[in-house]
Amino acid sequence: MHAYEVATEPLKSVDDWDDYVAARYKKGKSEEEFRNYKADANPGVTEFYRQNHANQTLDFVLAKEAEYLPLRRRKMGMWEALDYLNTLVDDSDPDTDLSQIEHLLQTSEAMRQDGQPRWMVLAGLTHDLGKVLCLYGEPQWAVVGDTFPVGCAWSSEIVFPEFFAANPDRNVPEYQTLYGIYEPSCGLDKVHMSWGHDEYIYRVTKDYLPEPAHYMLRYHSFYPAHRHGAYRHLMNQHDVKMFEWVNKFNPYDLYSKGGARPKLSEVKPYYEDLIAEFYPAELQF
Ligand code: FE
Ligand code: FE
Repeated sequence: MHAYEVATEPLKSVDDWDDYVAARYKKGKSEEEFRNYKADANPGVTEFYRQNHANQTLDFVLAKEAEYLPLRRRKMGMWEALDYLNTLVDDSDPDTDLSQIEHLLQTSEAMRQDGQPRWMVLAGLTHDLGKVLCLYGEPQWAVVGDTFPVGCAWSSEIVFPEFFAANPDRNVPEYQTLYGIYEPSCGLDKVHMSWGHDEYIYRVTKDYLPEPAHYMLRYHSFYPAHRHGAYRHLMNQHDVKMFEWVNKFNPYDLYSKGGARPKLSEVKPYYEDLIAEFYPAELQF
């Protein structure tokens, strides 16, 4: 039995969280409008954060790292992984049978049109594949959502901070100090992040992509840091430098939706070449 709460899934689709984040950071919004993040959250999104913040404890994260990071779940080629992710049915988007692949392709195609390097286009295509965690039976709150360090004090820059009142780590004094279980400027590689699709896909692909892509995949949901500058006290100089890449990545993730829907048959040859250039025929998930 799981010690954490398993409730009904509050989001119709895990992409409802992505849509909420995109609304929160809509272009042209003032800093004050950013702060009013609740205005963009529907009841499902609010309930989703309630579950996420109540259940993402250090113990939970350590257990999920131990379960998934040895990468012994299954072997898949990249196309197979894309097809597999696409079996995640999206109730909120009945008019496309490519709903999961579509966001990945729109992200990567926007990068390609801007002439970004090939490894970055591939990072765009890859970045949300960790959402296959949903297909392994993980609850939404353990797959998507803004990520944040566990084992130390929660930043006020995390959305819905009031929901941390229900997190059991609230009662562990060691986890409630600024540095918690970490050393000052220890570097993010030593920091355990709330569990989700970022860390998982980073681990699956890290041997095949250059380091800036590692940061793009691993921290793309770490909005408190890359959008709000929080947790600099845990980052080292190298992290700060590398976060320039995370910032470069983020607009493609947030703002490429709603553009032209890429035709898979037209772009497939390009991506087949790109995948073959960097990835082996099968990756260990
Ligand atoms: Fe994502
Ligand atoms: Fe995304």
